[in-house]
Amino acid sequence: MEKRDLNWSEIGFAYRETNQRYVSNFIDGAWDEGGLTSDATVVLNECAGILQYCQEVFEGLKAYTTVNGDIVTFRPDLNAERMMDSAKRMEMPPFPKERFLEAVEQVVKANADWVPPYGSGASLYIRPYMFASTPVIGVKPADGYQFRVFCTPVGPYFKGGAKPLTICVSDFDRAAPHGTGHIKAGLNYAMSLHAHVTAHAQGFDENMFLDPGTRTYVEETGGANFLFVTKDNEIVTPKSDSILPSITRRSMLYVAEHYLGMKVTQRQVRLDEVKDFAECGLCGTAAVISPVGKVVDHGKEICFPSGMDAMGPVIQKLYDTLTGIQLGTVEAPEGWIHKIC
Ligand SMILES: *Cc1c(COP(=O)(O)O)cnc(C)c1O
Repeated sequence: MEKRDLNWSEIGFAYRETNQRYVSNFIDGAWDEGGLTSDATVVLNECAGILQYCQEVFEGLKAYTTVNGDIVTFRPDLNAERMMDSAKRMEMPPFPKERFLEAVEQVVKANADWVPPYGSGASLYIRPYMFASTPVIGVKPADGYQFRVFCTPVGPYFKGGAKPLTICVSDFDRAAPHGTGHIKAGLNYAMSLHAHVTAHAQGFDENMFLDPGTRTYVEETGGANFLFVTKDNEIVTPKSDSILPSITRRSMLYVAEHYLGMKVTQRQVRLDEVKDFAECGLCGTAAVISPVGKVVDHGKEICFPSGMDAMGPVIQKLYDTLTGIQLGTVEAPEGWIHKIC
């Protein structure tokens, strides 16, 4: 198989149409057989549920080429399960886990020429999603749904080294108490765009959202979970019902505990204790972990001792170990690496 002729380190994070994508429709109360198509367009009725009442959930994962030349995905079973949870909360029919895994596998195989080579730092980003495809005008769940998976190659997240981020404490909330913060739905992103654009216009890289009920505890950013390192070398991550359970963060905690022998705690984290941590990072599929150098709370600066030049030592070790597991240079826990071809 001939690889695409791309400058993998320069492609960035942008959509590029690839060969094939997977489509299955939920009609008359059941998912159809589904299959691959080369058609990248979706044609919908003007009154489709997704267009009117925003019934949509999605996932994000990556395929990598390992040091041995295998194409693999990382813990795709957790994406399948999380998408089922998201669908249930949105009154959508869950797409079965085994079929989700099969669809991802078919899409990666059909686009193997788009999977960046080992050592390029780039990867194939995979986007499973489903949405209400039939007309709804009175408010209720739609009758018909479409599940799709497409993929697009993405460049290395940290070009020329990871530069620590500056983030601001947002005046907006990303999720309501007892709302949809814990599921992966486009609607959570639609309503965070204003906060995102506002933060960028003020020169910040990201928002730190606080708990929507009391605005005293740290939640997450628009698309990544926080991980803190204490001055005693322990890991702390925020616990909340309105945080999206990041697979990267859950994997990071396991790596910290079982590979690095660190103490790991998941608990509520008050904004006013953030100043006491030694390091801070943001966990998500896109970057694995991005270091945070500074948090700005309405003019008051919290600067982590790890500084603004490079990742702190603990976050660097977590990053190296987890990316090593993904790329096959560090032995993976049982079941984490799913070989495709
Ligand atoms: C997807 C997502 C994350 C990161 O989750 P991963 O499974 O690690 O990619 C974090 N926060 C939000 C809001 C997300 O949508």
